[in-house]
Amino acid sequence: MSRHQARKRFGQNFLIDNTIINQIASLFDNTVSVEHTLIEIGPGRGALTEALLRNDHPLTAVELDKDLIPILQTKFSHHRQFELHQGDALRVDFFELSKGLPLRLVGNLPYNVATPLIFKLLDNIDNIIDMHFMLQWEVVARLCAQPGDPHFGQLSLIVQNLCATHALFNVPPTAFSPAPKVESGFIALSPRAEPLIKKELHSAFNKIVKTSFMHRRKTLRNNLKGVLNEEQIQSVGIDPGARAETLNIESYAALAGLVS
Ligand code: SAM
Repeated sequence: MSRHQARKRFGQNFLIDNTIINQIASLFDNTVSVEHTLIEIGPGRGALTEALLRNDHPLTAVELDKDLIPILQTKFSHHRQFELHQGDALRVDFFELSKGLPLRLVGNLPYNVATPLIFKLLDNIDNIIDMHFMLQWEVVARLCAQPGDPHFGQLSLIVQNLCATHALFNVPPTAFSPAPKVESGFIALSPRAEPLIKKELHSAFNKIVKTSFMHRRKTLRNNLKGVLNEEQIQSVGIDPGARAETLNIESYAALAGLVS
């Protein structure tokens, strides 16, 4: 196993801190059931996988690096509950893997895959129970940010519309080998029973949010030029001279209502 070289292009920073590994696995103790499918994204050399399997519940893992597949197969050959798929989590059909059961997802995600993967999963949010991910700390901050926070932006609004976001703990670079250059954070994303914004407004909401944050230093009046004029912005009680990061999600819903 030690012959496998960590590959930068696959975002391979393997967890080596047993306290952190246990902290993550304990979130699943007594909460995994046969009524849902637990999927680990990027099992790597199996550090977290091993801890997740301690409850002897089914676990499916999706790993991109072909060289890790025989290592994982050997390591977990005695776990009949373990299913391994070689492939790209950005392309895989999670709902085929889910066997028709609601999904729980967990992973120490490769940092370049995290945001597109979360967006892919949001498209199928109705089938997901929860998601627990290790991410770059800054992405955790953006996912959890509230209006007025410098990290508040498109990602905060689009994800928080569909999920409650909880930053659980920070993880230092020393918890990984090789150590990444940045701090990490572990986050729980819990899909809401109903999105904060009505489904029929989602496409307008996504467009307005994206356009409002086009140039962070500009005012709404300038960013939304060509989409909404000053009078329209004022008509829903919003100051056209405000900056995008100061508006709450309800204000974006009101602006979306004007273009839908
Ligand atoms: N879970 C392991 C751990 O904590 O030690 C490994 C985490 S490492 C940060 C990310 C893992 O995701 C690596 O094993 C990498 O090969 C895998 N990976 C990278 N891109 C992937 C993708 N698109 N789909 C599935 N797995 C991917």
